Amino acid sequence: MNNDIAIAAQNLTKIYRRGTEEIFAVNAVSLDIRKGEYVAFIGPSGSGKTTLINILGCLDNPTSGNLSIANRTIFGQKKAVSERELTKVRRELFGYIFQKFYLIPTLNVLENVLLPCTFYCKEAAPEAYAAELLQSLGMEKRMNHLPGQLSGGEMQRVAIARSLVNRPQILLADEPTGNLDSARSGEISQVLQELNRKEGLTIILVTHNPELAKTAHRIIELRDGRIVDKMA
Ligand code: ADP
Ligand code: MG
Repeated sequence: MNNDIAIAAQNLTKIYRRGTEEIFAVNAVSLDIRKGEYVAFIGPSGSGKTTLINILGCLDNPTSGNLSIANRTIFGQKKAVSERELTKVRRELFGYIFQKFYLIPTLNVLENVLLPCTFYCKEAAPEAYAAELLQSLGMEKRMNHLPGQLSGGEMQRVAIARSLVNRPQILLADEPTGNLDSARSGEISQVLQELNRKEGLTIILVTHNPELAKTAHRIIELRDGRIVDKMA
């Protein structure tokens, strides 16, 4: 048992079947991610990045392999945790950010950030904490705006604040700058670096953006569902 490890994966494999064809979206991937580490996954489109981080983030099941989160077996020889426990792990340990922001258009910025608290809430005063997060992201003047009134970079800041509202230990970000221009990507990159450095947040990033990947502690390259290159 190693308390410094956030995520331990052994031989994770995900097979999709299309008719008689088998697609190894993730193929025997083993890796450990330390607490407080910032890891970037890169690789061509279709190389399995989304499938892999969705499994690491407990959003998807592997076909086979073992996965432990904070020393707790999530998937193993036999299924280790119930759906109910899996939901708890997702809500309590993880924050998620996606390329497409997924903001609710009819809710204002503050309400969007507070949305996860409808299901699970770690803070005694979630509104105050949500406002504090938005302020730290430079969004204090936009709290009452609707998503449709925001730029792409601002929408992603809202999504970041929402992912942090329950103080996750691990942040999963799948192409968070995929819809942003390079100046806005740079800003999001700074936000991620600061969260990692100041808050010790473990970050798992998928990106096509080499500049963004370079800010991580470790870059892992995927090709055809396999890890091809580990760089320090
Ligand atoms: P990436 O994020 O690197 O672009 P993905 O993880 O989305 O790659 O996809 C990896 C491979 O798995 C691709 O060949 C893709 O077509 C396939 N794939 C992904 N999701 C599904 C699915 N739900 N059903 C069938 N094949 C899928
Ligand atoms: Mg993807």
